[in-house]
Amino acid sequence: MQISNNTAVSIHYTLTNDAGEVIDSSIQSGEPLVYLHGQSNIISGLERALHGRKVGDKFTANIPASDAYGHVFEDRVQVISREMFDGIDNIEVGMQFHADVSEGPGIVTVVAVDGDNVTIDGNHPLAGMPLTFEIEVIDVRPASEEEIEHGHIHGAGGHHH
Ligand code: ZN
Repeated sequence: MQISNNTAVSIHYTLTNDAGEVIDSSIQSGEPLVYLHGQSNIISGLERALHGRKVGDKFTANIPASDAYGHVFEDRVQVISREMFDGIDNIEVGMQFHADVSEGPGIVTVVAVDGDNVTIDGNHPLAGMPLTFEIEVIDVRPASEEEIEHGHIHGAGGHHH
């Protein structure tokens, strides 16, 4: 069966950046990624590249930043006071926090610390980067009505509730 809207798709993937470094891979964890096709559960460029594929297909998808995690927005980089990090004694570069923001992924990364000034970046860590996925399609099945209604996959690799 081919991948089309409202199919449950299992894939193995290896994600590399444009320097060729592996950022993430389902093969390391051993469990394929399972997602509901056609509902923007995955980045748009990858969803498009998977459309019409079938079980056993292996291919490479080169995704520009605009179809992956978008562009870098300078105004998502801010300097804030250390006092904002209530109850955290050691603020270090690379730490990530959930933030209540209207735009962006809702996770900020500490990119610099200078005395009481902490610079945070609310861009997605992969924003502005073209990405390459090595893909193998493991399974394709029709999604259930309930899954389509919920907008996500249930069971192994999906939501449990
Ligand atoms: Zn559900």
